[in-house]
Amino acid sequence: MVFVVTRQKNFYDSGAHSVEIAYGVDNVSPGAMSNFFIEDFAEEDDPREIAEIAIILRKHWARILGIRWFSNWAEGIHPLPFTISGASSIGLYPTVNDGLTAAGLRRWAKEMYEKMPKCEHCGTPTEDEYQDEFGEKYPCCSEYCAEKLFIDPTEV
Ligand SMILES: [Zn+2]
Repeated sequence: MVFVVTRQKNFYDSGAHSVEIAYGVDNVSPGAMSNFFIEDFAEEDDPREIAEIAIILRKHWARILGIRWFSNWAEGIHPLPFTISGASSIGLYPTVNDGLTAAGLRRWAKEMYEKMPKCEHCGTPTEDEYQDEFGEKYPCCSEYCAEKLFIDPTEV
């Protein structure tokens, strides 16, 4: 699975802004704004990497919007939250009220990463599996890692 980051003008939230991370292209909310920053529509397999990209994207966007970040923050207004789309199986779009701060987003990313199966050889998150000669399946990110993993060290 790939995570996709977009800037959103949330249709169901009267156009409120958020930086969204979607579980796959199919879950990107309908209010995605067009490509402007290099990070728009960036894709990553590792939730920790997509979270950092989203945080940079928000910084760039806030500058363009001229958001007075810290004064807004002090007033308890969170101008550009992070939203997550596609986390539930019922296909609801996220709302900005459920939005996360950067700290919350990093916590989400860390928890996601810990839950994901990892390549037995290199540790990259992966949903792929490879079979060894005994029919045993292991999570492996690539043919290369599978070969490395299944080489019997006594044969080398
Ligand atoms: Zn690997």
